[in-house]
Amino acid sequence: GQDTQGAIPATLIPGDGIGPEITRAVVAILEALGAPFTWDVQQGGLAGIEAHGDPLPGVTLDSIRRTRLALKGPLTTPVGGGFRSVNVRLREEFGLYANLRPAKSMVPGGRYEDIDLVIVRENIEGLYVAFEHYIPIEGDPHAVAISSGVNTRAGSRRILEYAFDYAVKHGRKKVTVVHKANVLKALTGIFLETAKEVAPRYAGRVEWDDRIVDACAMQLVLDPWRFDVIVTTNLFGDILSDQAAGLIGGLGMAPGANIGADAAIFEAVHGSAPDIAGKGIANPLAMLLAAGLMLEHVGRQPLAARLRVAVDRALNGDGIRTRDLGGSASTMDFAEAVIRRLPEA
Ligand code: ATP
Ligand code: MG
Repeated sequence: GQDTQGAIPATLIPGDGIGPEITRAVVAILEALGAPFTWDVQQGGLAGIEAHGDPLPGVTLDSIRRTRLALKGPLTTPVGGGFRSVNVRLREEFGLYANLRPAKSMVPGGRYEDIDLVIVRENIEGLYVAFEHYIPIEGDPHAVAISSGVNTRAGSRRILEYAFDYAVKHGRKKVTVVHKANVLKALTGIFLETAKEVAPRYAGRVEWDDRIVDACAMQLVLDPWRFDVIVTTNLFGDILSDQAAGLIGGLGMAPGANIGADAAIFEAVHGSAPDIAGKGIANPLAMLLAAGLMLEHVGRQPLAARLRVAVDRALNGDGIRTRDLGGSASTMDFAEAVIRRLPEA
């Protein structure tokens, strides 16, 4: 493909385990597609420790500060090394307040068909600020465990506006605001109250409703087609987005985007899959779909659409699938199948 518009610098972090293999496949497909990215390759995770003594090296952070755009493979934070989670550090460093998790059926034969919903999770506030402590009683230092959550009006407004704007921009019909305001009246009540301020500004463009998180979890299983965009606080979003990934056949096909004021970072949701690393059999689809989200983020919707068409043709027209999807294709077989099926611009 030919791209007539300007190049877009972006940071590429191959990551650990299957990361480098799926990254190679994704980069080859993007190149064939004519995607505009020029990659600044940097290390992170175990590879970051090996190269620079830090799972999130300064040079990698500098690169993202420069490009404000990154595609990353799975990063492993070693336990017991005194290192903080790389993903949490990235979230804090770049104020990545929105976690976007689309769940769209790609192959028939799963438990559900034709699912197409998006979960927008608040990524910084809520119970995951983890202000935690214990209160000792009678010699038991851990007799009582306490955790405080923090939701702010400003933070709630920011994520709600992101979700409604996303719905408008992507032609989505409805936003469902998920909360537990009947019990956590302050912590999640503020989220629902803010939604009642924000939603009317989108009247006539996007419908909205609200749902209590437990009811939402049940309805996601009974009737997932009733949902379009779900927006919710950090902990609920963490749980519901993995549930939604389960509906479409697991984490192997689930992309994610972390969006902030200062940067946007795109990734596969799955981990480094050490059990199959180095065998060339990992499914590159989640990272490829993350690259598709990245194309949409930089305004290249036509390229993202062509990519999705090619993926669908390879998976469903040609039946080329990796083992996790019941096929026998290698990582690169799948990449080549997608490349063969790229539609003309
Ligand atoms: P980590 O510690 O990095 O989070 P993990 O083993 O906890 O790794 P995943 O890496 O997500 O979690 O792997 C869970 C299971 O799913 C593993 O059996 C793995 O092989 C499989 N898996 C994950 N990603 C893929 C993929 N892209 N293609 C094929 N199988 C995958
Ligand atoms: Mg894991």
